[in-house]
Amino acid sequence: MTTPPNAQPTGDPTQAEAAKAETILQRSLPVVLPPVRYETVDSYLGRLEIINHMGNGALSQSFRRRGDWVDRLAKLTGRSQALLALALPEVADVQTGPHAQRRVRSLARPDHARPYCQRCAASKQATQPVSSWLPVAYRVCIQHRTWIDWTTWQKTSNTEISTLPEVIHAQRRLNRLISRYPSAAINKALGDADDIMHYWSDRASWGEELRQDRYNRLWRPAGPGSSWSVGSANVGRHIANFPETVTLTGIFLSSVWRQEAALSEPTSLGKNTFVAELGRRFAMPRFAPGRARDHLAKWIESRQHEYHRYARARRLLCSDHEAVAQLDQYYDPLRHDWWTEPPLGPSPNDRDSTRWRVRYAYYDGYAAS
Ligand SMILES: [Zn+2]
Repeated sequence: MTTPPNAQPTGDPTQAEAAKAETILQRSLPVVLPPVRYETVDSYLGRLEIINHMGNGALSQSFRRRGDWVDRLAKLTGRSQALLALALPEVADVQTGPHAQRRVRSLARPDHARPYCQRCAASKQATQPVSSWLPVAYRVCIQHRTWIDWTTWQKTSNTEISTLPEVIHAQRRLNRLISRYPSAAINKALGDADDIMHYWSDRASWGEELRQDRYNRLWRPAGPGSSWSVGSANVGRHIANFPETVTLTGIFLSSVWRQEAALSEPTSLGKNTFVAELGRRFAMPRFAPGRARDHLAKWIESRQHEYHRYARARRLLCSDHEAVAQLDQYYDPLRHDWWTEPPLGPSPNDRDSTRWRVRYAYYDGYAAS
C-alpha cells in the first residue's frame, strides 16, 4: 500500500487512517467494484476498503459524517449518482427527497439489513458476503435454488434448497403476487401469513407430517437413514412453512376472500367458507385449525371489525358526499387499497377538513357536527 503524498504523518494510527481516507475521498479509488443490487452502502464501502487494502472502516467512517456523501461516492467510484441509485436503495432515497426513506423501509426490514444470495453477488465480483436491503418478500434465489434468510443480519445465511422444488415454486407464485399488488400490501399480507404459520407450526396445529417430510429432504439430502446436515432450526421452519405461507398471502390479498372473511359468521372456524377454501388450496380437505382463539380466527375477526367500523362510518356520514367518497377510497376494507391512509392535508386536525370528519366517524364512531 502506498501512502498518499499529501497525507499528514501522525503517531495515532486511527488518525493516520482517517487522514488517508480523507485524501482518497478527494479523488477516485484505484480499484473500483460495481455495487450489488439492494446492497447497503456500508457493505459496498466495506468491499471497496478490502479491495483497495484500506483499514477496516477507514472509508465508511469518514464518509458517513458528510452531508455530501452521495456526491463523494459518485466521485470515488467514477459512477454517476443515477447509476448508483439503481443499485443502492440508500442513494435512491437521498435522491428522491425526505420522505423517500419510507420507500426502502416499506420494502425491506425496517430494523436491519439482511443477507443476499452469495452466488448472485459473486457474479457481480463480490468475493465477500454482501449485506442488503433486499425486500422481505424475496426469500428464494430461484436461479441458484438458495434460501436467503430474511430474519437475520448475518451476511452468510444462505441455505441450499434444491431438494425442495415446492419451496422454489412458492417464490414464483409470490413473484406473481408482487407484480400485481403494491409492496405495502404484499408486506402486510405476508407478515400476517408469517405470524399465523409460525403460530400453527409452534403448536403443531396441523401439517406436521408435511413439515417433517420437508425437514428430511432439507437436512438429509442423501435420503432416509443418512446423517443430518447442520443448519438453523429456525431457518428450517421458515423454509418448511413457505409454500403454505404464500398460499395464505394470496388469499389475504384477494378482495373476494377478504370480503368472505369480513361478512362470514364469526363463531365456528370449522364451518367457515373461508377456511374451506384454504383447505382446498392447501390440498387438505379436512383442514380445520378449529380453535376459537386461533390466530386465523383473530385475522378473520379483524376483517369483520374493520368492516363493521367502515359500515358504521358510512351510515354516519351518509349525506356528506365528499367524506363518503374519501371513506370509500381509504377505509373500505374490501377494496384492494385497504392498506393506504389518506394523504395528510395542510391541517389534518382541523374540524372542517374532510380527512378529520372521516377519521372521526371511522375511529370514534361519531359524525362531526
Ligand atoms: Zn442467486
